[in-house]
Amino acid sequence: MAQIHTLPSHLVNQIAAGEVVERPASVVKELIENSLDSGAGAITVEVEAGGTRLIRVADDGCGIDRDELALALSRHATSKIESLEDLEQIGSLGFRGEALPSIASVSRLTLSSRRQGAEHAWKLEARGDAGPLPDALPQGTRVEVRELFYNVPARKKFLRSEQTEYRHVEALFKSLALSQARVAFRLTHNQKVIYQLPSAASLADRRQRLAALCGKAFADSLVEIDVGHDDLRLEGWVALPTFSRSQADLQYFFVNGRLVRDKLVTHAVRQAYQDVLFHGRHPAYVLALSMPARALDVNVHPQKHEVRFRDSRAVHDFLFRSLHRALAEVQPERQVQSPGFALADAGPDSQRRQGGLGLAPPRPRDRGVAESLEAYTALLAGVTPAPAAAETDDGVPPLGYALAQLKGIYILAENRDGLVVVDMHAAHERIVYERMKQSAEREDVVAQPLLVPLAFNVSPAEADLVDASQETFTRLGFQVERLGPEQLRVRAVPALLKHADSEQLLRDVLADLAEHDRSARVEEYQSELLSTMACHASVRANRRLSLDEMNALLRDIEQTERSGQCNHGRPTWKQLSLDHLDKLFLRGR
Ligand code: ADP
Ligand code: MG
Repeated sequence: MAQIHTLPSHLVNQIAAGEVVERPASVVKELIENSLDSGAGAITVEVEAGGTRLIRVADDGCGIDRDELALALSRHATSKIESLEDLEQIGSLGFRGEALPSIASVSRLTLSSRRQGAEHAWKLEARGDAGPLPDALPQGTRVEVRELFYNVPARKKFLRSEQTEYRHVEALFKSLALSQARVAFRLTHNQKVIYQLPSAASLADRRQRLAALCGKAFADSLVEIDVGHDDLRLEGWVALPTFSRSQADLQYFFVNGRLVRDKLVTHAVRQAYQDVLFHGRHPAYVLALSMPARALDVNVHPQKHEVRFRDSRAVHDFLFRSLHRALAEVQPERQVQSPGFALADAGPDSQRRQGGLGLAPPRPRDRGVAESLEAYTALLAGVTPAPAAAETDDGVPPLGYALAQLKGIYILAENRDGLVVVDMHAAHERIVYERMKQSAEREDVVAQPLLVPLAFNVSPAEADLVDASQETFTRLGFQVERLGPEQLRVRAVPALLKHADSEQLLRDVLADLAEHDRSARVEEYQSELLSTMACHASVRANRRLSLDEMNALLRDIEQTERSGQCNHGRPTWKQLSLDHLDKLFLRGR
């Protein structure tokens, strides 16, 4: 072995660069973060050739003194922390003093800056021999990075096409622009302006930024979140479950302004959506969690993607509860008002219209739906429908009154805004599911004995499952026993499901049970079992409903949490506003 020796500083910097500078996007990230730390109100990002030829980031922040320019480019030099105590409560995005020297070691970097109050700007070339030279610049800092990895061929080889590198740059830019709505941002690629985002303070402005960065469809189907508990605060937006994605590509989570990809966070969010999202779909959200800096350790990952929460349990619970509640509260009335739920945005004259819609006054029997409900209540198998229905100011319930049934599948109803179309099976399934869930939570699932016990054959494995899962079956309201190696007998079924086909129901529950690890705790997949069961109990297509039954279903939707989507995340009803209908018929143009 050779002798131990200290590495020359340029080599040390290049090794450090291996950690923080992976590709052009990582340079963009470090530079924008520096600008944000400097208190900038506006940040401009210019890139050429996907960032491989040029990255230039300019801000109007506090600037750097002439005499500190060289220091800013040297390793472990930072203005952001001084002591161990500071390290334990980091309020800035940077703190290691590594980014500028690392970037400078693998590119041609020029740093120009004009400190607040200084007569003019100074610039320093990282590789030059000369000291700072005067430069022309308004207050703030400009960092220019040319020819990234020109001196590290191995790294350069690993870069992808300019287009791919640019996409990574843009993704990073987006997340940083979402993290700080008050800061104006601008991005150009090869001199072409891609994003020009003014400072956004009001809610409407922030929504506009969101639409610009994440698309209008997303911005139109949002549930706004603003919840505080102790010293945790969660703000931002989640998309309605009906706007789910096939990839986890619209998920932004910031902790104290820092974008993180954290298992705990992902898990909490997924759980909150579990009931309302189709399997394999991904929710979309932009959320910002703020908490005291002390309750967080950001110094755990080279690129600071991960954080460590001092009380991770509390954070998980807070996230899950806040989001779960917010999604449950998406009630029909809000959905009717939310433009995302209407097929078309309400036009300027929709307001005027609402008063004079000429909606027929509710007939007395519509109000007293509960009386003439026998048929429908029978469908719900003994469950009493909720009592008083929600009403809007003018006495018309949010989903209005049923007009007709279409093709045995849809219910058509008239409400204040126009036409409501309900997928009756999907809606009913959701209602049954929510009720079963509630009674399972209260542990008062009522078992209904069968007049004639039902015996049928299954595979030995399924019969074993019945032996092994007695507790689960009891809990769900079944009484089922094994008669022989391959035979079962059902004595009772959940009262809520007494009208369902018991044999098919039990077979499906067995299939569900078999699919899950038998040792897993029942609660973990109870919702899936309940969902399978609810599907059986719900009104099938082609079943004729009377107007009263339809109205009863509408009232139940209004009363039921999360009723805007069925258990699989498909919408249960849609509003077609009068405006939209007018547009279809080219009326009023
Ligand atoms: P860190 O951000 O971890 O402190 P950097 O290497 O990114 O380390 O930056 C070193 C120092 O240079 C910073 O601490 C800061 O004082 C100064 N600096 C860098 N960029 C800017 C900027 N855009 N505006 C003002 N000061 C800056
Ligand atoms: Mg930094």
